[in-house]
Amino acid sequence: MIDSHIHADCRPYEDFELMMLAGIESAITLAHDPMRMSTSAVVLDHFYRILENDFKRAIKNGLTLKAALGLHPRSICPDYELVLEKLPEFLDREEVVALGEVGLENASELEKKVFKAQLLMAGELGMKVAVHTPRSNKREITIETLSIIKENIETSMVVVDHVDPSIIDLVEDFEGMLGITVQPEKMTPTEAVELLDRTIEEYGAERFMLDSDISSSPSDPLSVPKTVHQMKLAGWEKAKIKMLSNDNATNFYNLKKK
Ligand SMILES: [Zn+2]
Repeated sequence: MIDSHIHADCRPYEDFELMMLAGIESAITLAHDPMRMSTSAVVLDHFYRILENDFKRAIKNGLTLKAALGLHPRSICPDYELVLEKLPEFLDREEVVALGEVGLENASELEKKVFKAQLLMAGELGMKVAVHTPRSNKREITIETLSIIKENIETSMVVVDHVDPSIIDLVEDFEGMLGITVQPEKMTPTEAVELLDRTIEEYGAERFMLDSDISSSPSDPLSVPKTVHQMKLAGWEKAKIKMLSNDNATNFYNLKKK
């Protein structure tokens, strides 16, 4: 199994052991806003912490991490241009499989500018992009997010994450991948299976990925295996379960080649 969206830097060592015990073999850890990102140096140190410290902690438990790095909308520091200048060097590293997580939080002009710049950068570099959708004003902001994606990058290069019942209709015709975040206070494993049951035939099973988004917010490192368990109880075919919990993320992030 793959947990396709975590924040390893916010989690204790023991979580990686738990995830391994429950059958998660790899995870993608994404750059975000773990502290006040007051300058570019703080953001870059956050990237280094992911690549150096978190990779080591995970691998000690046998869990393979890959990273997505980028400027989260809540991490846009006053000298963000310096981060954008350095970002291609980070994206070039073998263990970095995508640019992310990026997107809009409040949809300010600055957020839109930084988001567009990163989509164009990913397009030029041929990198996949992990896009965040916010908790507040989710629908309104997702509409803007999707239109910025369509204008600035090939949609097949993008996963739109934290898709829930409030925005699922918006992404039906969007041709990229869809992340389903199973997280306390957001969506339970049973609710995720219900949402997928309703949409998977129409949308295509090959477009969905499961994740826990474990961070310092209420989180469950076993979200993905618990959702897989609910799928089994609901009588889902093995092959379809494997697509959502493993194969789609492997293919999208090219994990076999990396
Ligand atoms: Zn996240």
